[in-house]
Amino acid sequence: MSEVTVEQFAEVLKVSVDKLLAQLEEAGIRVDGPKGRISEDAKHELLTHLRKAHGKAEDGGAPRKITLRRKAQSEIRVAAPMGKARTVSVEVRRQRTYIKRDVLEEQARVAQEEVDRQRETEDAERLALEERAKRDVEQREAQRREREESERRSVEENSRRAAEEQIRRETEQKAREQAEKERRQREEKSRKTTEDGKGPRFGRQELHISGGLSARHKKGRTRSESRRRAVSTADRKHGFELPTQPMQHEVNIGETITVAELAQRMAVKANEVIKTMLNMGVIATINQPIDQDTAVLVIEEMGHVAKILKADQIEEELQAGMKSSEELLPRPPVVTIMGHVDHGKTSLLDYIRRTKVAAGEAGGITQHIGAYHVETPRGVITFLDTPGHAAFTAMRARGAQVTDIVVLVVAADDGVMPQTKEAIQHARAAGVPIVVAVNKIDKHGADLEKVRGELSQEAVIAEDWGGENIFVPVSAKTGDGIDKLLESILLQAEVLELKAVRDAPAVGVVLEASVERGRGAVATVLVKRGTLKVGDSVVAGEQFGRVRALADELGRETQEAGPSIPVQMLGLSSPPNAGDELLVVDNERKAREVALYRQGNSATSAWPSRRARSPRMCSRRWEKKARPARSTCCLRRTCRARRRRCARRWTSCRPAK
Ligand code: GDP
Ligand code: MG
Repeated sequence: MSEVTVEQFAEVLKVSVDKLLAQLEEAGIRVDGPKGRISEDAKHELLTHLRKAHGKAEDGGAPRKITLRRKAQSEIRVAAPMGKARTVSVEVRRQRTYIKRDVLEEQARVAQEEVDRQRETEDAERLALEERAKRDVEQREAQRREREESERRSVEENSRRAAEEQIRRETEQKAREQAEKERRQREEKSRKTTEDGKGPRFGRQELHISGGLSARHKKGRTRSESRRRAVSTADRKHGFELPTQPMQHEVNIGETITVAELAQRMAVKANEVIKTMLNMGVIATINQPIDQDTAVLVIEEMGHVAKILKADQIEEELQAGMKSSEELLPRPPVVTIMGHVDHGKTSLLDYIRRTKVAAGEAGGITQHIGAYHVETPRGVITFLDTPGHAAFTAMRARGAQVTDIVVLVVAADDGVMPQTKEAIQHARAAGVPIVVAVNKIDKHGADLEKVRGELSQEAVIAEDWGGENIFVPVSAKTGDGIDKLLESILLQAEVLELKAVRDAPAVGVVLEASVERGRGAVATVLVKRGTLKVGDSVVAGEQFGRVRALADELGRETQEAGPSIPVQMLGLSSPPNAGDELLVVDNERKAREVALYRQGNSATSAWPSRRARSPRMCSRRWEKKARPARSTCCLRRTCRARRRRCARRWTSCRPAK
């Protein structure tokens, strides 16, 4: 084909001339308008350009995509309503795109790849999530395990520590006990040394410095050197260890106890006790005795343990303290003279005293006490000058068996009379041997045989009649037979083998007691065993005190009195009753305790004594046990709060007899 014009070429290609011109321009081919000529080369160039433009490879490969467009024009005649036909031109444009199969496949592959990639990513994410969740669970599990482990360890640690603490405490306790034991031993030793009269040779008397610090001065070593050594060897540990818990004391409580004593037993200050009592509504002073119930309340309030002593524990202890296996020594007999009135008892006693006791005494006799002792060549005899059957029986009723021998005085001119018989009965009941003194033998009409006969009817039979009673004819007026009487008494005493301990705390009997102006309570006491000394703390019945002074029957001061010796004693709080037992106790505190205990006892058993009714002794105990008939009086509140008033009430509310 040779060169053609643009119009011709457009006709061939079935495209418009303008489009061809535009395409040619795009391809960079210069033509001179529609009438211009297109060379063969230009045609190829245009083809190449168009191919390029339609995606065909330059190397001439098939195009990947072809788009076909069709345009068809037609004319339709449409009949108009007015009978006129109109021609309408219709253009139909079609476009169809063809794509090569491999392109589609490629696209599908790409899409597939895309999907695959997405799926992979999702998978990876899911896996990561799962992984993370798993890790979380594991972590939590590990934490839990760790926690459990630590708890277990802490529990173990605690128990181990508790065990250690227990062991430590036990060790400390043991050490403390050991130290206490050693301290006691040391004290014992030092006490012994002191008693030996040597006194402590070494040892620091410092308070609260633990042992092992004694700067014992050895030979060849200077004092400072030895001290240095001591200090270097023993660490200067303070001896006192603070208690780890409050100390609980066991406090023994008798019937009564003073505030000060209570405080001392609880190891607290008295002020503390007073304060506690104040809080409980009881006002007390430091020396005030308080009753058992109050004391127990106070003790419990202060966190200690009260131990109530048995009712008769004090007495039991007292009796136990009396028992001793000291050497028994002979003692003088104690004689009581009994007989019918006017038979000469007083005269006989007077005679003996006048002739025997006052022998050698210048200025006559001044009888001070109701008992005396006489010294005969053969021994000492103690006469009780408190004759009378009532006194004798009263004493016996109190359990005080004082008399060893009864001298029965029978007037030779009168014979056996009712009171003579009575005296015999008393002596029999007491199991005391009778020595018969047939008096007034100097008198006209004295009939010794008659007396013997009458007495034999009372089963008092003379020795020469085959009996066992010594009969001595005497005269209190002339003194006949008195020596014989004394001898007979001693003889009888020998038969009785009277013995008593001498070196021991005294036990005695109160024969009589009174309050004397300027001297206080004065008691005549017959010592039964042991030795009573000035300064002894004593209990006599319900009274207590310290022996201030002792005097014999002539008023002479003495320092001590042995068995069967009567003395007058000063120093008791109040006069005791005749027949009361007198005991020497360890200290005045003990004496007070016993006395108050006895006072308390008698208060419960009978109407309280005047003394016991004093305000300070008023206590709930009475209320419980010995409340008077009119129960409205002395209520506890009144009792506690207004003791003084209470005392008055006690007096006023005495039950009518
Ligand atoms: P009591 O009641 O037993 O104490 O007897 P008393 O001692 O008071 O004596 C009563 C009376 O008897 C007094 O008047 C004495 O003088 C008298 N009396 C006592 N003893 C004797 C004595 O031995 N001979 C004589 N003749 N009279 C005596
Ligand atoms: Mg008389």
